[in-house]
Amino acid sequence: MEAVRNFFSSFMLKEMLEGLRLTGRYFFARKVTLLYPEEKTPMSPRFRGLHALRRYPNGEERCIACKLCEAVCPALAISIESAEREDGTRRTTRYDIDLTKCIFCGFCEESCPVDSIVETHIHEYHGEKRGDLYFTKEMLLAIGDRYEKEIAANREVDARYR
Ligand code: SF4
Ligand code: SF4
Repeated sequence: MEAVRNFFSSFMLKEMLEGLRLTGRYFFARKVTLLYPEEKTPMSPRFRGLHALRRYPNGEERCIACKLCEAVCPALAISIESAEREDGTRRTTRYDIDLTKCIFCGFCEESCPVDSIVETHIHEYHGEKRGDLYFTKEMLLAIGDRYEKEIAANREVDARYR
């Protein structure tokens, strides 16, 4: 009996009609998918993407080499070396983040007393070999310089919750 039912089902193209019915139902329904990357979903100001090091408006680096971010990082992804400058202030001579280790927890950002290390909204980047995801101080400062306006705006929106 089952075999006969299956035969008539396939003969009448039952599965195909069911598929078309489903397609028809969603064809006119509100779309929940986006044409990425042309269309993008809204992003929270707290989004934790690619890291950046920030400067003050006068161009001075914010980072004071306190190494709190390095100490708090659970993935041991941050490496810092520092030295005292001629004016007596301390600054990093090396600030590297290995993004192959980073778990984007945001602890480094939270621990920084001067809002220097931050995580930006940037998530569209890739590396083709391990070394491509090793970000040096110069690279991180360059990201900060390029996106400072957006970073500052997002920090301001989020400030009331901090
Ligand atoms: S986001 Fe977390 S894992 Fe990544 S560098 Fe910062 S503290 Fe380390
Ligand atoms: S980025 Fe912030 S937490 Fe890390 S060493 Fe510099 S000042 Fe300290």
